[in-house]
Amino acid sequence: MRKTIPPLLVILLLLSAGCVRDLSPTLPAELGAASITAEQTAASTAAKPTAVPGTTAVQELRLPILMYHQLTTKPERTHELCITLELFKQDLDEIEKKGYTPVSMAQVIDFCEQGKPLPPKPIVLSFDDGYESFYVYAYPLLKERKMHATLAVIGWVADRFSKVSDHRLKYSCCTWEQLREMAEDGTAEVLSHSWDLHTMEKGRNGAAQKKGESIEDYRAALAEDMEYMHKAFERAKLPDVPVFVYPYGAFSPDSAEILRSLGIRAAFQCDSRVNILRAGDTDALMRLGRFNRPPGKPLPIE
Ligand SMILES: [Zn+2]
Repeated sequence: MRKTIPPLLVILLLLSAGCVRDLSPTLPAELGAASITAEQTAASTAAKPTAVPGTTAVQELRLPILMYHQLTTKPERTHELCITLELFKQDLDEIEKKGYTPVSMAQVIDFCEQGKPLPPKPIVLSFDDGYESFYVYAYPLLKERKMHATLAVIGWVADRFSKVSDHRLKYSCCTWEQLREMAEDGTAEVLSHSWDLHTMEKGRNGAAQKKGESIEDYRAALAEDMEYMHKAFERAKLPDVPVFVYPYGAFSPDSAEILRSLGIRAAFQCDSRVNILRAGDTDALMRLGRFNRPPGKPLPIE
């Protein structure tokens, strides 16, 4: 567990390295174009919302989750994980036009666990890595439209940017103060992207089990990381939302059960598919797929 604060340069390298890894065709293959095309085809034939006979309560529904990272006003800076503010605005228009309602993960969990209804055509807008561009560009737009989004933050990075005056939107991340402001008015649900597992150092690939690591040691590593994040959220007076966002979308066969035993009730992966949720099916919550939103392509929703 990293207990010292690394220099800013290391943070930048880690974050940018993470983005590159996300795009590697040999690592999380979930972002591959072929995969997205196949999943979109599958999505178009997926089950439509159904109601229990004699009632109007929807028991099964489709939930697309969009995955964003960085926003910029400079088109020359866009890449697979960074789109323009202009395109993001267009996305919000299209989401509204197509009748989708951005919902919070608390609502999604309530549907799966308790059957509480969700609005028609629910969608989740998720942002990873806690970039400050979310606070400056996305937050005012979402607030104005009364839309929800999730923002997954890396604990030690938020800590670092809360202590430096260097805030350049090209790379800076939100401070705890900014995160609290966005959580308090209900616009953003701040989620854990781990305290310090957004790394491939020392044989670790995000929150996945290391090669040769015992299940006990793996469990202890996840528990320690979560404890750090829990304390950070407590210090920042942020609600500890029980949703974990796997760094790089990497996980192992035992990850979900361990996370669950530690209090997590939903987890975001990175594979491109529409989620089919059923009231009472809480397993689906632990393997939620998401569509990356790259520049230069249509929004991957019907
Ligand atoms: Zn990430």
